Amino acid sequence: MAAAGSAPAQPAAGQSPGGLRAGFARADITPGQPVLLAGYASRKELSQGVHDPLSARVAVFAEGGRSVVLVSTDLIGYYGETSGSMRQAILEACGLEPEELFLTAIHTHGGPQLGHDPSRLPPSNVEYTRWLEGRLIETVGAARSRLAPAQVASGSGACPVGVNRREPVRDKDGKPSIVLGRNPLEPVDREVQVLRIAGADGSARAVLFAYPTHSTAMGPRNLRITGDVHGIAEQFLETYLGNGLIAAAFAGASGNIDPWFRVLPEFRAERGWVPEAVLLGTFLGEEAARVIERVPAGSADGPVRSVFRTLRLPGKPRNEEAAPADHPPTELNVTVGRVGEVAWVGLGGEIFNEIGSAIKAASPFRMTVVVTHCNGAAGYLPIAAAYPQGGYEVRSSPFAPGAAEQLVSEVARMLNEIRDGR
Ligand SMILES: [Zn+2]
Repeated sequence: MAAAGSAPAQPAAGQSPGGLRAGFARADITPGQPVLLAGYASRKELSQGVHDPLSARVAVFAEGGRSVVLVSTDLIGYYGETSGSMRQAILEACGLEPEELFLTAIHTHGGPQLGHDPSRLPPSNVEYTRWLEGRLIETVGAARSRLAPAQVASGSGACPVGVNRREPVRDKDGKPSIVLGRNPLEPVDREVQVLRIAGADGSARAVLFAYPTHSTAMGPRNLRITGDVHGIAEQFLETYLGNGLIAAAFAGASGNIDPWFRVLPEFRAERGWVPEAVLLGTFLGEEAARVIERVPAGSADGPVRSVFRTLRLPGKPRNEEAAPADHPPTELNVTVGRVGEVAWVGLGGEIFNEIGSAIKAASPFRMTVVVTHCNGAAGYLPIAAAYPQGGYEVRSSPFAPGAAEQLVSEVARMLNEIRDGR
């Protein structure tokens, strides 16, 4: 497989190696006016009010002249032209190397659609996208200006909020197919990975947590702005832990995972909030809080390293079942980093849960956090066994069978590279 990209960053000249430092910042990114919400093509009306606010949260880790910048945004993701432009704007304005930035989104379907094209989007969305770019640059800058000695502790829990959504059904002639529903028979990796970052005095300054599910509990009829499951979990943790602590969420390998509940058909919103998203978000946040209270003391050791590559994986046309023999490969951005003994794998697509488990199993690190919707939005990446079954993710995927296996082996190679200290 051909791979294009940059080599691991070298320490910048004039900077001496030192202990681990970290800095954090949070900014409100709730749209100030009605916008078109992203995620469901059926929804044509603009948003009507705010269920819960959206934020951008940034964690910067630095050691020995290298840094890793994790940006978590309560948005659906960076699709189309914003996939490259938003990232490029941050890299240039902040003077970062491509491998240093993990620009991610929690994949809420209750946030604004991003884009710069006024012929495709309402003016408020175009204006919001332009404003967001400046806001993210500012927030990354703020986090970098606050770098201070830090200790990282990690732990994991489990949470049953996510379920495999590929439900097998039969039509009246007995013909099988897969619909978007609930398939509790499929095993799912439900790990909640949690990092607690403390200052030199041992007091917590930030929590980072990853969990694999779509943030879609509010469903396609919702018109209120919301961070949905992940966003509500962040807000729960920040309220519960207090002290101005920042809790940033990351969507794990969730291409085929939905929240256990979506809104009931009646859409009971008259009491001011919608119970399903609040219930599931709080459930996830509670588990992260439980892990936080049990993690051992952290480590102040680096190293901090990262590598960015654009992989070329077997491709197929979107919305077709099979690929012609000469179909060109599909690109997927992969960013792999480490902060001490914790590895981060950022994938620019919606990868199936099983692929995340395979990456974790193949990793030489004690904890490997798989993050989707990171540095790109190539589309769904199913496992080989899903192709003969069909269904929404397989049909709309730009990847062909074999892509998952190549991805896992290439990510394992990248993890070993940064493990070996290059
Ligand atoms: Zn999705």
